[in-house]
Amino acid sequence: MDLSSMNASPVLADSSPINQTILGFHSSVFSRSIPKKKPAKLDDVRFNGWLDAMQSSSPPRKSMLKDIAIELASDDNDLVYYSWMLKYPSALKSFHHIITRAHKKKIVIFLDYDGTLSPIVDDPERAFMSIEMHSAVKDVAKYFPTAIISGRSRDKVYELVGLTELFYAGSHGMDIIFPAKDTILINHLNYIRSMDKQGKEVNLFQPAREFIPMINEVFRTLVEVTKDIPGAFVENHKFCTSVHYRNVDEKSWPMIAQRVHDVLKDYPRLTLTHGRKVLEVRPLIDWDKGKAVEFLLESLGLSNANDVLPIYIGDDRTDEDAFKVLREGNRGYGILVSSVPKKSKAFLSLRDTSEVKEFLKSLVRWKEQMLNVDS
Ligand SMILES: [Mg+2]
Repeated sequence: MDLSSMNASPVLADSSPINQTILGFHSSVFSRSIPKKKPAKLDDVRFNGWLDAMQSSSPPRKSMLKDIAIELASDDNDLVYYSWMLKYPSALKSFHHIITRAHKKKIVIFLDYDGTLSPIVDDPERAFMSIEMHSAVKDVAKYFPTAIISGRSRDKVYELVGLTELFYAGSHGMDIIFPAKDTILINHLNYIRSMDKQGKEVNLFQPAREFIPMINEVFRTLVEVTKDIPGAFVENHKFCTSVHYRNVDEKSWPMIAQRVHDVLKDYPRLTLTHGRKVLEVRPLIDWDKGKAVEFLLESLGLSNANDVLPIYIGDDRTDEDAFKVLREGNRGYGILVSSVPKKSKAFLSLRDTSEVKEFLKSLVRWKEQMLNVDS
């Protein structure tokens, strides 16, 4: 990526009207009356596009499968999963292949947080890493440059991870912090010199800074319009805001979508993406987790594909932008965390957070063995 070309604001010049495509179907669908008592059915064509998007971004847990009338025997589930793994092999089983490719290269680790390092839980405020995962991430960061790229605000994800030795990119990569000593590029319009909480000099990169007042305004409005929907929870991530519906009764999903849509139609410079049981409102700018990965690699002097092997582990749709960057540049490994078959741009897969932990520990063990051999 040519960073010099990014001195201009990354805001897209042609912002398509949000009400044309929001939630994956045409806005005219919303204008029809929504039956108040009759719950939406999965085979109801009016909601198919929306429910498909919701369900594909929120894969049901095994215990929920009966609720949506998918009754596959567990053996069948395993069969489907294992045949999917032919296309997305296990990163644990492919470990030898990865380290062979990493020979004489510097491995750089990128980690999503929710659903990758911490399990998805009902209360996003309580999405904590296990003690074992915390120490696995800490150990990995001893040997490899390691960045967390999350949809959460940078402050929040730092609070949850609590490791000063990592790089952090919050708000889907729209809020990046570097220790000043590690940064090789400082003459950039969107860089801000600052101090972190420990008083160390840092550089901030915030391509959507101008959107902060707008996001605050939308956040307050979304809190107001969803306050009577039991289980709805709105979170402000500074450069984006999200409406969680994981605790909302499925019968109320059309209502929550309608309310969010009605708010957003007044903000053509904002867009919406689907996370896992969350509607995410973001600035309509040409910036995503993939761009953040490229930017971090370049800013840290690690963009030479011949010397560097990036590994990105994530479970969300927003992580697909990063998988795509690695796949298209044939630069490293995107690893999708999923316990159900999903289409992805990743090369490899891990089933859950516990396999992520095993993978990180394997990297540490391998690196320590290599260091012992060398010494
Ligand atoms: Mg995630």
